[in-house]
Amino acid sequence: MAPHRLRIHCPHCGVRAVEEFAYGEIPATPDALTDADARDVDRGFMHSNHEGPVTERWFHAFGCRRWFTVRRDTRTNEML
Ligand SMILES: [Zn+2]
Repeated sequence: MAPHRLRIHCPHCGVRAVEEFAYGEIPATPDALTDADARDVDRGFMHSNHEGPVTERWFHAFGCRRWFTVRRDTRTNEML
């Protein structure tokens, strides 16, 4: 039996293998950080690694080369 492989539904191309995409969490930078450099560091490196529903930006790198937003449950990989 083939191992479970995550499939992503691109709104432009349909269902494709996850290997065709790059993605990232949409960061929520704390308001208490007012320094522009500190906000950039927080946005770039301080990911929450949240367990449960998250909002992410996905880029179909080996397809239409467009960005789209996905709500995904990180516990199940279910697209919400
Ligand atoms: Zn696509």
